[in-house]
Amino acid sequence: MYIHFPKLVALASVIMATSLVFAQKTAKPNPKDTEVWEPVPPVVTPGAKDSDPPSDAIVLFDGRNLDAWVSAQDHTPAKWFVHDGILTVNKAAGVGNIETRQKFKDYQLHIEWRIPSDISGSDQARGNSGVFLASTGPGDDGYELQVLDSYQNKTYVNGMAGSLYKQSIPLANAARKPGQWQTYNVIWTAPTFKEDGSLETPAYATVFWNGVLVDNHFRLKGQTLYIGKPFYKAYDRAPIKLQAHGDKSEPISYRNIWVRELP
Ligand code: MG
Repeated sequence: MYIHFPKLVALASVIMATSLVFAQKTAKPNPKDTEVWEPVPPVVTPGAKDSDPPSDAIVLFDGRNLDAWVSAQDHTPAKWFVHDGILTVNKAAGVGNIETRQKFKDYQLHIEWRIPSDISGSDQARGNSGVFLASTGPGDDGYELQVLDSYQNKTYVNGMAGSLYKQSIPLANAARKPGQWQTYNVIWTAPTFKEDGSLETPAYATVFWNGVLVDNHFRLKGQTLYIGKPFYKAYDRAPIKLQAHGDKSEPISYRNIWVRELP
C-alpha cells in the first residue's frame, strides 16, 4: 500500500499529539507543580511582644518625645504632654490636633490609648479623640478612626470607638473600662486618584480593637465629616493625625505608636 509522504507525517503528528494528551491525562500530579519559591519575603524581626515595633517599623512615639509630630494647624513643634512614657492630649485653647511630620500612603498602624479612670461627660463628650488615618487638612479634615469612651456610654453607633466616623458601625464593642489601655491595629489602604483629581480606587480600613476585628476591609465613602455626606478630595501621601477634641472631659493618653509602610 502506498501512503503519500506528507500524509504519513500528518498521521504521525496526530498519533504523537494524541499520545501526549493521553500521557498528560495519566501523569500523576506532582506536589512540586504548585510550589512557589520566589519572591522570597523580606525578613522582619518581630518585637518581643506583638505590641512592640517590628524591625521595619517607623516608631512615631516611643514614650520619650514628640519629635515625629507637629501641630496640624501651623506645623510648629507639637505641644501635647509627654510624661511617664505616655502622651496626653493638650486641650488648651489654640493647641489643637497634632500630626506626623512624615506622610504615608498604605500602612499597618499600631497605637494604644487610654481613657482616664476619672472620665466625666457622656455621649460624644466623654473621652473623645481620634486617629485620623490620613490628615488632609489642618482641622478635622481626613479619615477619622474614632477614639471615645465606649464602655457603657451610649452614642450614635457610627460615632462610637472603633467606627470610621459616621461611616462604619463597628462589628463589636470591644471597649475596656476607663483607666485601662486599649489597642488599635489598623490596616489602611489609601484612596487613589486619577490625573483630573477624580477617584480611582476608594480607601479601605481594617481595624482590630483590643484584638477584636471591628472593621473588616471597610470601604470608605470619602472623608469622615461631622456634617454632610462624605466625599473624596484628591491627595497623594498624608500625615497621621491625633485629635484634640473640644469637649470638656478629661484628656486621654496615647502610647506605643508605630507604623509599617506597605508596598
Ligand atoms: Mg473624635
